[in-house]
Order: sequence, then C-alpha cells, then structure tokens
Amino acid sequence: MAGGTKYIFLTGGVVSSVGKGVTAAALGRLLRERGFAVSIQKLDPYINVDPGTMSPYQHGEVYVLDDGAETDLDLGHYERFIDVSLSRVCNVTTGQIYSEVIGQERRGDFLGGTIQVIPHITNEIKQRIGLVPRETQAEIVLVEVGGTVGDIESLPFLEALRQMRADLGRENTLFIHVTWLPHIGATGELKTKPTQHSVRELRSIGIQPDVIVARSDHPVGEDLREKIGLFCDVEARAVIPLVTTNVLYEVPLMLEREGLGEFVLGRLGLEARHRPDWSEWERLVAAERTRRPTVRIALVGKYVELKDAYMSVREAVRHAALHAGVEAEILWLHSADLEKGKGWKELESADGVIVPGGFGSRGIEGKIAAARYSREHKVPYLGLCLGMQVMVIEFARHVLGSEDANSTEFDRSTPHPVIDLLPEQRGIGNMGGTMRLGLYPCRLVPDTRAARAYEEPEVQERHRHRFEFNNTYREILASHGLVYSGLSPDSRLVEIVELADHPYMLGSQFHPEFLSRPTRPHPLFVGLLQAAANRAKTKEAPRQVAVASPSVPS
Ligand code: GLN
Repeated sequence: MAGGTKYIFLTGGVVSSVGKGVTAAALGRLLRERGFAVSIQKLDPYINVDPGTMSPYQHGEVYVLDDGAETDLDLGHYERFIDVSLSRVCNVTTGQIYSEVIGQERRGDFLGGTIQVIPHITNEIKQRIGLVPRETQAEIVLVEVGGTVGDIESLPFLEALRQMRADLGRENTLFIHVTWLPHIGATGELKTKPTQHSVRELRSIGIQPDVIVARSDHPVGEDLREKIGLFCDVEARAVIPLVTTNVLYEVPLMLEREGLGEFVLGRLGLEARHRPDWSEWERLVAAERTRRPTVRIALVGKYVELKDAYMSVREAVRHAALHAGVEAEILWLHSADLEKGKGWKELESADGVIVPGGFGSRGIEGKIAAARYSREHKVPYLGLCLGMQVMVIEFARHVLGSEDANSTEFDRSTPHPVIDLLPEQRGIGNMGGTMRLGLYPCRLVPDTRAARAYEEPEVQERHRHRFEFNNTYREILASHGLVYSGLSPDSRLVEIVELADHPYMLGSQFHPEFLSRPTRPHPLFVGLLQAAANRAKTKEAPRQVAVASPSVPS
C-alpha cells in the first residue's frame, strides 16, 4: 500500500473488561470489509512470558494459534471476527520484551551501555509491533494495549506508541480510547467525568486520542456525544457510542452504523476498496434473535465459575447451535461436584455433554463419571483434548474392564496407562512451551462419523497437550468397540476416537473450538448440537426460551 503500513492503537480508560478486545476485533472486521489486509496485535503488560503457565482463574482461556503460540483470549475474538489466522508476533508481553533485552545485555550487545526503559525497552516494543506487518503482510495493524491507562505496567507500551506517532506521522497512526460511561441510578444519568479524567491521564503522557468509543449499558444521546467531544477535544462524530448488546456479533454492525469505518479510513488517508457487505453478519444476528428450541449442553469442567476459561468452547457451541437451528443453554457443571454426588440432576437433564480441555488431577474422576453416564445413557458427548483422554480411560475401565486404567498424568504407576507420554517426551522438565502445540494434520478414516462430519480426507487442527493415546492399547480397545476415526498421516498418533454404537460420542486430541468461526461453525460441534437437538426433540415437547442468552463483550 502506498505510504506504508497504517497503525491503529487502542487503549482502555476508566475500567477494564468493557470490551476493548471485541471493539478491536470488530473494527478489524470493518476494515476487512472495505478490502484491506488487517492484523491485530495485543500488548499484555504482565511479566509472564505468555499466558500458557497462568491459571485460567487469573487469565481466562489460553488461546492457541496455528503456529502454536499460547496467547491471550482476545486473540480468539480477533480471529473469530476478522477470520484471519494470526501469528505468534500478534501477542507480546512485558515478560517477552524484558527477557529479550536482558538476553541481549548478557551477550554484550549493548557494549557496556546502561540499559533503560527509554530507549531500550521502548525500542524493543516498537520492533515487535513492526514485526506484525512483516510477518502477516497486513496493510493496517491494530494494536490493543491490555489494562487501563494509568496502570504502572502499561506505561512503557504507551510511551512506545507515542513515539511511533512521532516517528510515522499522524496520517499513519490513529489512537482510539475505549472508555466506560457509568450510569447513576438516582438521577438516571450517564456520567462522562471518568472519561474526561482518563483522557487527561492519556494526554499527560503525550497521547491525544482521535476517537473515543464510549461503552455504556444505556443509550448515549447526541448531547452526550457532543459533551465528550468538547471536553476531550475530539470531533463529536469521532465519539462512538457502543451500548452493551446481548448478541456479540452485532458489535461490527453497531460500529458501522456509527460511522467508525469511514471515519478511521478518512483519518488514515485511505479510501474503501469496496463497499462492506454485511448480509452474512446481519443474517447471523437475526438468527441469534430468533426464537429457537432449546437444547441443554452440560459443560463438565474445572474452572466453570469463570466462564472466560472456556471462551472458545462457548463460542463454538453458539456457532454450531445457530447452524443447527437451536438455542444452546450451557449448564456449567463442576466436575469435582459430580464426584461428591452434586450436580447430577442437571447432568441428567442435559441433551449433550462436553468435557473440555484441562490439566492436573483435580476433578478428573467427575469427568470420567460424566463420560460413563454419556456412554451408558447414549447422551451425545464431545471430548476436547482432555475430554478425549477421559473418554478413553472410561472406556478402558468399564468396557474393557481394566479398573485401574488411567493417564500417567494422574497416576504415574497405573498398571494400564492408556494415555501416556510419548517416549521422546520423557525427561522434559520445563512447564512453559513444552507441549505439542499448534496445527498438526489429521487424516480421517473413511466411513466414520468424524469423516462424515468433516467431508474432507485430511484436516489441520490446533493442539495443546503433553499426553497421547498409548498405542499399546490400540488393538485391545478396538476389539471392544473403540473406533479410531482420525490419525496422524503416519498413523502413529490417535487424533479422534468415537463409538459406533452411540448417537454421537466422539473425542479429539486437538481443540476444534479454536477453529470455529461464527460463519463457519466447526463440524464436530455441529455434529454434537445436531445429535443433542435430536435427543431433545424425542425426549419431550421442545422447551422454548426468549431471545439469545446475554453476553457482554469482554
Ligand atoms: N492434560 C492433558 C495433556 O497434557 C490434556 C491437555 C488439554 O486438555 N489441553 O495431554
């Protein structure tokens, strides 16, 4: 593109968790719809090298990319909205920046100089941002800074962005500040003061925003738009109200209606290459708003108190439900509760069961019990990574009759390690980045449920695990009815298992949820939702619910 790469920087003000990531993702879609190659990068101020080793309670889901990078869950929003596969360079943490600079210092690269935040840390940040257009060929790069303006940790990132505006010029950079307008119940008013303060904070470090996205739970009137514009020194048309919606995929349509796409292009000196075509997204949103019969999907996990820990699974269920013409009600069940005899009524009310990924032994017996219940009562079941391993353990214990079958992750000395490390993995001590990560091919075995679902001979799916199906048990488990419907091309690794004598019981060693897109639901999830819908239909008169379940952009 003539004039080089354009950069859009997104910062957050007032409070976190108001939808900065979704705003970035939706704006990316607006620009893609106008014909530009777009990429989105997240700068995370924490000191961990990546979120791979962080507890889901702290950080929500770890989202895995094609290239195996373990990233922030916002990258999941980005990919679902812009439908572009992102790269490892799209998630940068303070930990990565410092470990790189300190590594250079130890090698003597700085020739005795004093290493400082400015310029050494900020230079490294700028260099990481510059990698995005080089690696992804993006013409417009959106950069989201994690956290809220005023946090100590994000200061070096903001300083680097300030420098980039000075380096590249106003016509090549644009600042968007996403804030929150609190509502005062007593007077029924929306307040702009916190927004004014956070813009002042931003200005004190040398950044004047070009656009303010004003998030709110209530409609934002024209008067308020003008007031924010005046006090924060941006044009009134650059104040973009974004009212909370219960349909996540409506956000791009809302930003489009407010004119954000045209405003941004104008400020960057660009012209749309074609008119946006929103018909598919409009259909999607209309479908979400339509009454559909409910199916209940039990999600049996370990971090169910924090729904963000299963963000991509929840979205994949939603995409597949739309495709199957049903409304999915997710029952969040704690696997450790099932062990104590709690939650079984809910499990029994479910039309489908998902056991998602996970690590460590807590709650594992509850998951095995859920798999057993699904198999014996012919309830549709989808196992994701750990959920596949659980399905194999359950099968070995109760169909083959090897009571002590287990994964060596949970019982090192089990006499029947049906799930185990590969020989070459033994002896790896580090916890960070030592798993089978990212895309690997999976060949579908003809005439299986998986092959019929995919309608393709070979697929690529994203992985994140250490343990594998133990081939010692391949024959014996097959002779009892376990079907291997997906294998690595050399047939060494079992990628998908399923049961023939069951409406839908299938587990994948990979994480299909990372590749589900709103307009392209994942076939394995569609299979589950269809089977669950059939079960719901035959069980009783279909339950109806009102419109879509609430979802606030995170
Ligand atoms: N803990 C299992 C393993 O490491 C499963 C991992 C997962 O579910 N992502 O193999």
